[in-house]
Amino acid sequence: MFACNGKVDIKSLLPGELEGLMKEMGQPAYRAGQIFHWLSSGCGSWDEMTNLPGTLRAALAERCHLARPSVRKKQLSALDGTVKILWELWDGNAVETVVMEYRYGNTVCISSQVGCRQGCAFCASTIGGLVRNLSAGEMLDEVLFSERETGKRISHIVLMGIGEPLDNFENVMRFLELVNHRNGRNLGMRHISLSTCGLTERFDELADRDLQLTLSVSLHAPDDETRNRIMPVNRTRGVDELFRKCGEYFHRTGRRISFEYAMIRGVNDTPAHARLLAKRVRPLGAHVNLIPLNHVDERDFEPSGPEEIRRFVDILTESGVNTTVRRRLGSDVDASCGQLRRKTVRTTTE
Ligand code: SAH
Repeated sequence: MFACNGKVDIKSLLPGELEGLMKEMGQPAYRAGQIFHWLSSGCGSWDEMTNLPGTLRAALAERCHLARPSVRKKQLSALDGTVKILWELWDGNAVETVVMEYRYGNTVCISSQVGCRQGCAFCASTIGGLVRNLSAGEMLDEVLFSERETGKRISHIVLMGIGEPLDNFENVMRFLELVNHRNGRNLGMRHISLSTCGLTERFDELADRDLQLTLSVSLHAPDDETRNRIMPVNRTRGVDELFRKCGEYFHRTGRRISFEYAMIRGVNDTPAHARLLAKRVRPLGAHVNLIPLNHVDERDFEPSGPEEIRRFVDILTESGVNTTVRRRLGSDVDASCGQLRRKTVRTTTE
């Protein structure tokens, strides 16, 4: 299962599994701890593992896949210090990671898939379809190598880059376990947000894991007519179903959901949309995060104007809904939603 390139994908193994591997290789268990430590601090070659004997390193190299992502492109925002990195993976595919500075710390926005199959009409990530899932180790490397590359210590993670995390469920859950592990990077679950377009069939499983992370739902419209138009996922899982599952998730986990709402001029930004949105989210005590749409060259949509946004915010807050308007960090470096990959890479599906 955790194979890569015909070998064991060592970066995706949990400490217990590494112990199993060491046992198979006739090694003492403490070697697993040493290897996990290296892999959790961003390690790209066997030679870096200086406390392992050369013979073991050679045996591991025979049996396991170990690669590090390389920087294909890096952009630094002159406006707010946002750094966007386009990584080249071992097989030539590319994904984006963004590091943003907030008052409370540095947040990394990571990708979970190469491409995406959800087909949202306003999003650049989905244009070439899904190429492949990222492994748990590749997601961990986005965090670790972003730290190395920027020199910034990461305190928060959002799974809001390229891809749909719940469409790569097992690998994403494993990544969370790896990054959260106390012998590893030890980053707290409460500092992690997972964003989904609404694959409701996975909500129960996610609640079962009983994680302390924040679930973000990309809503973008409170009614089926508008949502069907911009998010194909809604055609098979309508808004009623989505809110039913959000309610269940909230009641089972006690964790408040956050709703993302990209404001698109003339599409989802009328007072009627705002009133219906307020009615839907209020019973969940949920938070709404409004994002002025980022323009994507290949798409026809435009962001709502400041007037529409203000009117929208007023209706929500008057209805008692906790609302924020997201700052547009890195707007000078294409820092959203697959735009850098889109401009740099021609995928095979095009
Ligand atoms: N697939 C997941 C996570 C990736 S997208 C999801 O759908 O939630 C992260 C967020 O950016 C989502 O809310 C997505 O809808 C939003 N987004 C995509 N394209 C955008 C654009 N052009 N402008 C603003 N937000 C966008």
